[in-house]
Amino acid sequence: MIKVSLKDGKIIQVESGATVLQVAAMISEGLARMAVCAGINGKLTDLSTKIIADCTLHIYTLKDEIGQQALRHTAGHVLAAAVKNIYPTAKLGIGPAIEGGFFYDFDFSTPIKAEDLSKIEAEMDRIIKLGGQVEKKEKSRAEAGRILDAAREVYKIEMLNEIPRGEKITFYKIQNFIDLCAGPHIPDISRIKAFKLTKITGAYWKGDAKNKMLTRIYGVAFDKASDLADYITTQEEIRKRDHNKIGRDLEIFCTHELVGQGLPLIMPNGAKIIQILQQFIEREEERRGYLLTRTPSFGKSDLYKVSGHWSHYKDGMFIMGNEVLDEEIFALRPMTCPFQFLIYKQGIKSYRDLPIKYNETATLFRNENSGEMHGLTRMRQFTLSEGHIICRPDQVQQCFDEVLDLINYVMHALGISDQVWYRFSKWDPHNKNKYIGNKKAWEISQEEILKVLKRRKIKFEEADGDAAFYGPKIDVQTRNVYGKEDTILTAQLDFALAERFDMTYIDENGAKAYPFIIHRTSVGCYERTLAMLIEKYAGAFPVWLSPTQAVIMGISNKQDKYVESAYRFIRDNGVRVAKDIRNEKVGYKIREATLKKIPYMLVAGEREQAEGTISIRTREGADLGVMKIEEFVAKIKEQCRNFG
Ligand SMILES: [Zn+2]
Ligand SMILES: [Zn+2]
Repeated sequence: MIKVSLKDGKIIQVESGATVLQVAAMISEGLARMAVCAGINGKLTDLSTKIIADCTLHIYTLKDEIGQQALRHTAGHVLAAAVKNIYPTAKLGIGPAIEGGFFYDFDFSTPIKAEDLSKIEAEMDRIIKLGGQVEKKEKSRAEAGRILDAAREVYKIEMLNEIPRGEKITFYKIQNFIDLCAGPHIPDISRIKAFKLTKITGAYWKGDAKNKMLTRIYGVAFDKASDLADYITTQEEIRKRDHNKIGRDLEIFCTHELVGQGLPLIMPNGAKIIQILQQFIEREEERRGYLLTRTPSFGKSDLYKVSGHWSHYKDGMFIMGNEVLDEEIFALRPMTCPFQFLIYKQGIKSYRDLPIKYNETATLFRNENSGEMHGLTRMRQFTLSEGHIICRPDQVQQCFDEVLDLINYVMHALGISDQVWYRFSKWDPHNKNKYIGNKKAWEISQEEILKVLKRRKIKFEEADGDAAFYGPKIDVQTRNVYGKEDTILTAQLDFALAERFDMTYIDENGAKAYPFIIHRTSVGCYERTLAMLIEKYAGAFPVWLSPTQAVIMGISNKQDKYVESAYRFIRDNGVRVAKDIRNEKVGYKIREATLKKIPYMLVAGEREQAEGTISIRTREGADLGVMKIEEFVAKIKEQCRNFG
């Protein structure tokens, strides 16, 4: 008999060779009915797997995310089966489950279009209605090779060759379609009650731009039909918040093919919001002891050789000049660090001078892959609230604490503190080639950061092996409306670059010592933060961030003079106000201002003109009654008081 430890800690005895499904049935009939896949000693597998040694066993149902993943991935196989039925010459790539859905990559002999997806959906529907089990077939390596050769599945042959020796090789069969896959899958395709193919894109084989571009088809799949209806409703809601759409509707930014991908043009409304954010953060940083620098947007390759970017990050940089032909070549900067370090090196620093905190609103350039470009979140040029704190090793904790305090302050000011979470990226001690610095430096610095996180009671997830090449870091993460995770802020400790740049200070004993550096952002990349704010507020920004805070209009052209003088008064008192004296009905003007998400509409009629007042409405449609113009100005000032 074999001992099987279950999720709840219970241990049961089973016959050797019993399948997971049989064990599920021993536990309860209900579980056997609900089960879709399992984890044996942490390794995911199917219900048909036989248990032949003592183990831990977790049985998953569709209530578990792992069960849902198996369902979504199985839908990927159904997609592949449908594609092969319609396009027999299509070659199969990879087809994993992803967060919220699945995809499958194909190499079509003639490219297909988005319009073809409905035809594939109809075939998938037919396959699912026909139903049937997902059968696992174990094959020898030679046999697997013969099957894939016969089918001319060139990508699958590559995948087969990458399966480590000694590992089992499995195929899965749905009706007459067989596919090389490690599994697990749900036992029966009839459990897929609803699905939809959502989009079609290009994707390089193995994610490498040197390889062939395949066609990636994305989809979603559910075990309840109502979940698909909910999904469609949510997608419609999401589209209303998408920064790419609202950003264009509200004239915040646009793009133009003449300029290029990843190079958005920030329009007056967007530029105003960025200016507000910049003034806000630069004032706050000044209060916190930062010193402003202004450094060049590019530098010689020699500089990046010292910083290590040339060897670690060259592919991500825009290089100006020809390495072979030119005596001097330059690169647009991907970050500000080396420039600020050279400022630090002007003059001798004593231990009493530290910490020194530099900040700069820096335009940076990174050569992202064209496939990764997206609105204001993935760009080739962007602006970062970038700063470096140069401190003594004994000041690391205090300085890191101050950095996190500023981040926390900014997140609250932007109203997004409840939509972000922290990730602590550490090194991977088994992959020393990836990192500068020694083991001790990594361990001590990680410990220091951990202390700060714990003292501030910050909830965080740990990411082993995700650190940059020069130190551990904290990322502040958020999700866009589509659920995609993005980093908005980073604070990174660096115990290595000071030495590379020969940045020193004179310590208490009169000896030269290397400082520690913290690379950090406070409001992040302005464009990306703007994108996040657009999605958070669906364009209805808080008053302090609204590019136009109010628009003033008369009931008829008789009030034009009054509107003009009120407009000047409000504007001269520092409120961002616009006037609308077009010969249009006031109702039309209000509707238009509401669509532009302007917080306040100020309406002047005969009575208001006689009394020196205005009638106020909000973009939400509330009527705030009549107010003296000075009172309105004071109200706006009050709403913006804490932000700069
Ligand atoms: Zn599979
Ligand atoms: Zn830096």
